[in-house]
Amino acid sequence: MKRREFIILTSIGATGATLSACGNPENKLIPALIPDEEYVPGLDYWKSTSCEMCQAGCGLLVRTREHKANKIEGNPQHPVNRGSLCARGQAAVQSLYNPDRIEGPLRRAGERGSGRFENISWEEAFEELTAKLGEIKSRKESVGFLTGDASGVTGLAAEILASSLDNGRLIDAHGLNDLWIRAGYENAYHQPIIPSFDIANARYLISFGARFLETWRSPVSDSLAFGEFRGAAIRGKFVQVEPRMSLTAANADEWLPAAVGTESMIALALAQVIVREGLSKIPIQQNAFSLDDYAPEKTESATGIGAEKIIRIAREFASSQPALAIGSGTSVIEQQADAEAGLKRIEAIHLLNKIAGNEEKPGGVLLPLPGIDPFAKWRGKGRWLPLTGKSISGLSALLIHQSNPVFAIPHTADAIKSVPLIVSFSSFPDETSQIADLVLPDHTWFEGWNIKAAPSVKSGAVVNLTQPVVSPQLNTKQTADALLAVARSMGISPPFENAEEMTQQAASEIAKVAGATDAEEFRASFTERGFWTGKPGRIKGGSTPKSSSSEVIDEVASLAKQGHASEFPFILLTYEHPSLGFGNQANLPALQELPDPMTGVIWGSWVEINPQTANKLGVADGDLVEVETPHGSLKAPAVVYAAIRPEVIAMPFGQGHASMGRYAENRGANPATINPVAAALQSDTAAVRAKITKLSEQAAHIRFGTTLPERPHIER
Ligand code: SF4
Repeated sequence: MKRREFIILTSIGATGATLSACGNPENKLIPALIPDEEYVPGLDYWKSTSCEMCQAGCGLLVRTREHKANKIEGNPQHPVNRGSLCARGQAAVQSLYNPDRIEGPLRRAGERGSGRFENISWEEAFEELTAKLGEIKSRKESVGFLTGDASGVTGLAAEILASSLDNGRLIDAHGLNDLWIRAGYENAYHQPIIPSFDIANARYLISFGARFLETWRSPVSDSLAFGEFRGAAIRGKFVQVEPRMSLTAANADEWLPAAVGTESMIALALAQVIVREGLSKIPIQQNAFSLDDYAPEKTESATGIGAEKIIRIAREFASSQPALAIGSGTSVIEQQADAEAGLKRIEAIHLLNKIAGNEEKPGGVLLPLPGIDPFAKWRGKGRWLPLTGKSISGLSALLIHQSNPVFAIPHTADAIKSVPLIVSFSSFPDETSQIADLVLPDHTWFEGWNIKAAPSVKSGAVVNLTQPVVSPQLNTKQTADALLAVARSMGISPPFENAEEMTQQAASEIAKVAGATDAEEFRASFTERGFWTGKPGRIKGGSTPKSSSSEVIDEVASLAKQGHASEFPFILLTYEHPSLGFGNQANLPALQELPDPMTGVIWGSWVEINPQTANKLGVADGDLVEVETPHGSLKAPAVVYAAIRPEVIAMPFGQGHASMGRYAENRGANPATINPVAAALQSDTAAVRAKITKLSEQAAHIRFGTTLPERPHIER
């Protein structure tokens, strides 16, 4: 492709011109860039890439004009999101142009944590990192690589660099959550798998706490499936079981507000009715779960859901074809036995799918197609560990990428701070980069390369391509390129020059799986579409050894702390914020400004309290309250919320950053500090005992559509 370089002049022209006609003074001309194509100013160019805001793997089209990305749409051809997009995907462009991005490599220039850094060049950064890793290697000490991109280019580059060290330790930032989910389903389906659920073709759906229209596993894909479920000739019926009404429950035909931790009792009570009335599609041994002990008449006082209702729903479920159960419920984890019971709970819920006889059927549970690892050919024997206290102990250096454990998993902060060398690859001044010795900022995913398998869809496997849609805007470097550069300085010869070459070579491997006769042509089409989908196949090579479920149980048990009901009479349910997630997207103003769909709160945290409870405590909407658990306490405004059980209070993750730029900092409170199990699992499922006290101070509380519409004043 012909390349040419030119400077774009605005219509009025010259450097320093002011474009004030629209009321927005513009002091800079659009910078000179090297275009990829015969570029015409004023025309839109759409480029395909993949969303990396969550793990769902949606396909995107990004509109660029004058070499700036200015709009994102869903890729209509992509099998996961079929042209749709969630709010996080829409807002992603604000991470590219975020005013608080780190502009280039930094070296700590003050006390650790003082936030004082000096600018250095990339050459100095590589030299310093290579020298320090060399010293650590000569002492035979350990170096940890922690990344949220273990399956992508960064993961492979980390494996390559780790292989040059005697004690390289690979740590997957999502590992504990993946392990928890996989262990739960392993109990239920007796295979180490994460199945998918064909919501679109089911005619009856019971969800045990899965907030699939907001977060869960693939919210865009699941929302589309839910639309088909509702729009079918026979409209599907949907029942949501959870202690607090989420947006997903608000879309249900029936909401069953079961007590925290009793969702599996509801599932077993439904199963008991189906079996005792001879409605099961397969023979079920009553004693598999001692089903008779869970008859709805025996469990109604514990669950809070009347026997008559359970009997009716059980009959509806059994007589609807296909009927589907999803989700994993909630639990208060206070000791090791509770962690094990949490996994057992998933098995109980999925017993309903067995009873419905719906495995591997339309509208049922789909066992996953074999996954494709585009990098299998280059995998060594490196084992990825989950992020736990154990995996980060005893390190002499920790390299951290796409993860902010000091904020998100605060119980790891002390162990991280004790590591002699911390290197952060964060693009933003988050809590973890603030305690780093070296900060080597990564590109955003709009500026870099990646290739990854997305969760498979009904029609086949999916492999996504992430590619630059604009040139790097700042003096940043893709982390995979940085790791490969350091590996080369340490005397090894990686099989790739950089991340772009990694994706191109991996694409050639996918071409073989796809049976393409012309690899060049396959790569061109893959680049144009931004994804490949087809029949799964295996790429010869290594595989990553899996961790065991005992690791997750041990970690959860080590974090559990017993709280006595006399001291902590409430149960605090912490949940993933529908748009800010677990806090990693709190620096995007479009998402801060987006009202929470159930409470209308923007720009802050809140604690949901049932009106009866609020009345007893003398708490009014907007009052500041203190929430205390056996792990600590925080302050946040109360929202009197009718759709929650009286003994439950609820709070979203997402806020409470001490550092992450002007839009996120000093806003709300971080519930990860008082519910470490939920924080470690990055999950809605783990609740904790709590008490709540009204404070005399007034809360800063902003709710859309109320008399408190004050926006925060943000200045820099
Ligand atoms: S669900 Fe939303 S955030 Fe996740 S990949 Fe899709 S568009 Fe991106």
